[in-house]
Amino acid sequence: MRNRLIGVILLALACSQAPALAAEKQKKLPKPGWNMFSKDQDIQMGREYAQQIEQQFKVVDNRELTDYINRIGQRLVKQGGLEQYQYPFFFKVVHEDSINAFALPGGPMFVHTGLIKAADNEGQIAGVLAHELSHVVLRHGTNQASKAQIAQLGAVLGGAMLGNGSLTGQLAQLGIGLGANSVLLKFSRGAESDADLLGAYTMAKAGYNPIEMARFFEKLQAEAGKSNKLVEFFTSTHPNPGNRVQAIEGQLPYMPRGDYNTVEGNLKSMQAAVTKLGPAPKPKQVAQGQGQGQGQGSQPAANTPKPANVAVSSNMKVYQSSALAISYPDNWQTSAGQNSLTIAPSEGLLQGAIGYGVVVAAAQSPNGRVNLQQDTQKLLQSIAQENAGAQIVQQPQSITISGSAAMVSQLKSKSPYVNTTEIDTVITIDRGANLVYLICIAPEPDYSRFEPVFQQMVRSIQFK
Ligand code: ZN
Repeated sequence: MRNRLIGVILLALACSQAPALAAEKQKKLPKPGWNMFSKDQDIQMGREYAQQIEQQFKVVDNRELTDYINRIGQRLVKQGGLEQYQYPFFFKVVHEDSINAFALPGGPMFVHTGLIKAADNEGQIAGVLAHELSHVVLRHGTNQASKAQIAQLGAVLGGAMLGNGSLTGQLAQLGIGLGANSVLLKFSRGAESDADLLGAYTMAKAGYNPIEMARFFEKLQAEAGKSNKLVEFFTSTHPNPGNRVQAIEGQLPYMPRGDYNTVEGNLKSMQAAVTKLGPAPKPKQVAQGQGQGQGQGSQPAANTPKPANVAVSSNMKVYQSSALAISYPDNWQTSAGQNSLTIAPSEGLLQGAIGYGVVVAAAQSPNGRVNLQQDTQKLLQSIAQENAGAQIVQQPQSITISGSAAMVSQLKSKSPYVNTTEIDTVITIDRGANLVYLICIAPEPDYSRFEPVFQQMVRSIQFK
């Protein structure tokens, strides 16, 4: 199954959420969503990407400017209540004219000199930082990546698929990086509303007027409308969820009230310091961890010919985790991510794809309860939509697995092996708050040989 072939169930589930509460009611503060990365993987990834950023952009070493941004950032973290999330936050200023600041998963934050220049007051800088910090602690980047590539990430995060040491190098092979359309940096409107809300509370606690965040975003939006290239990156990666000022105004009565007069430095003199730096250097071209084939071991890339014979041992062994037990052929390997498990023969694991094997994943229902028929249909539709040519060849049929209501369906799609189609048997299981699903993958010509072992594995599942 190719990159991006699976996934998206959570996006689909999210669409069925209840409409937003009226503005006057207090909104619940958002929490991090479902994620296949561990928190430590967020932090590791952020560190690796931060090194790339520092090679690419000129980090400003002007003490006055870096201290100023650090004071604002640390105030938001400490007084603003973000310390409880325990990320190693740091703040650096980069010499770049575009009006932007971005935070990487796990905490590193880069503030462009263009942002310092464009702000009307310190509250607006604090607003962008608070919004970005909220994306970090709500783990929006890796949440989005998890939704986009459930199956492939299971193998990468569990360490099965690639021999490359760096996490970002492995993610690059799935097409995940820091590019303009990166799932890590380009946020959904839902993520934007959540980052606005948490960011506003953070600002209020830290002594900044939360309205300044919304005002600044609206100012950027207006500039984008005038095709101002300097705001393009920010406005395209943080899409306007609509009515930002009103949404925050509606919540103000519930936020800590202060005089909102915090000032960490003289913005005018900071802007003068930026001007003194002179013209910004051009960013350097740096390979963004494109690890294709670099120092790789034996795993072939996708689009290689299908192996002539993939071994299936008839001896089964049992994989046990705190959530489930499942039997599998003893010559296959397992790799577990946070909410997923991949079980596959080594010949079935390719760079960035799974040619043979079984993926088990759990998706939390945002409604708190799975609706098996609906959620199964949504999963199948999303897979078909994401993949030109994927066809549902068997509609869902009810079965029971380990005492739980379940459905089995089948798709036909493009295999990662060259000129090959594959069969994907999809089993969805109602586990109350979670939809557990299995995808059993094999090339069509070999499918009949693998079907009995897939069935044996599915029947063996025991939930704990
Ligand atoms: Zn945002």
